[in-house]
Amino acid sequence: MSAEDRDDNLTKVARVRRRQVPPTVSLRDDPPGEQDGEPSAPAMSRRELLELGAVVGAAFLAGAEAAAEAAPASTGPLAPMPALGGAPDEILRMQAEVRRALQKPVEQRSWIMVIDTRKCTGCQACVVACATENVLPPGVTYRSVPEVENGDYPRVKRIPMPTQCMQCDKPPCVAAANAVAPGSMTKRPDGIVAVDYARFRGKSAFRAAAKACPYRGLYYDDGKFYTQPTPAFQPYERAVSHDWGRRWLRERYNTGAPVGGGRKCHFCLHRLEAGMVPVCVSTCIGRAVYFGDKNDSHSLVNELLTKNAGQVVRIRDNRGTEPRVYYLCDDPQESNKYHD
Ligand code: SF4
Ligand code: SF4
Ligand code: SF4
Repeated sequence: MSAEDRDDNLTKVARVRRRQVPPTVSLRDDPPGEQDGEPSAPAMSRRELLELGAVVGAAFLAGAEAAAEAAPASTGPLAPMPALGGAPDEILRMQAEVRRALQKPVEQRSWIMVIDTRKCTGCQACVVACATENVLPPGVTYRSVPEVENGDYPRVKRIPMPTQCMQCDKPPCVAAANAVAPGSMTKRPDGIVAVDYARFRGKSAFRAAAKACPYRGLYYDDGKFYTQPTPAFQPYERAVSHDWGRRWLRERYNTGAPVGGGRKCHFCLHRLEAGMVPVCVSTCIGRAVYFGDKNDSHSLVNELLTKNAGQVVRIRDNRGTEPRVYYLCDDPQESNKYHD
């Protein structure tokens, strides 16, 4: 709906409201007159009421659209947590830790992810959850679970290795993107590597950043829809997404951000700000994915890294990017070899 259409509808609302003289609004089929001998207030005809309903509805939708488009997502106060009795569920514990971290200034938080490959079944539920949560279009996948082959015949193993943007502490993508599109990528104080959709536009900036990334963490959004070639264009593809804590509308033929730019995992920032763990963590059927604050010495992620000190690897650690996703493996030496 255009701005003129919206203005026109709002004018119609005002005009109908002027005709609607209080104190009473009644439904009737005939023109206004007198009832019970008393002068009645001019009531609305059924047609006028329907007209009012239609224009109010249209104006409401227009307002909602305008508000939804790239508006900051308001999270409001956090809902209370369930009581943690006895040995706490790990998801609830991580969620409580996220909320504890939110009490600190952002520069004192340090988000990391730990993936226990020994528990990952390769079911891909986290991939589907991520795509659904973020309303991802064709060609954009913030998370994937490829299988890695380890060992030599006859002792060969295939291990699922979930991957995503590693939120590197020394991210080569940032300098590469900013050389083409200044200010398009930044490193946040909490460790997340952020994308500014308004600036990270065009294939040149995307290609530069994607080429610099050793993890294939970036994807280009070319505005497609999964149901585009089918007769019925499904509404779930037009759901609002919340990347980077904002609200993004997706409409057919829309060329505005995030269409026409690079996208990547954001550690579910909108969920973190609402006191929830990333959706790939809460969805994991093997409880293989953990998330938390590395600056919190009591966090589950720190506990796991300490307990499994001999089993921790970071993918392509030798590239010097300091990734923030840690893997727990049976055989770190073998896993390291694969990632060289
Ligand atoms: S994984 Fe790639 S896109 Fe993500 S921060 Fe590291 S270099 Fe950048
Ligand atoms: S943290 Fe969120 S955006 Fe990133 S891979 Fe997991 S679900 Fe997807
Ligand atoms: S949901 Fe969990 S178990 Fe399934 S592929 Fe993802 S990380 Fe592995």
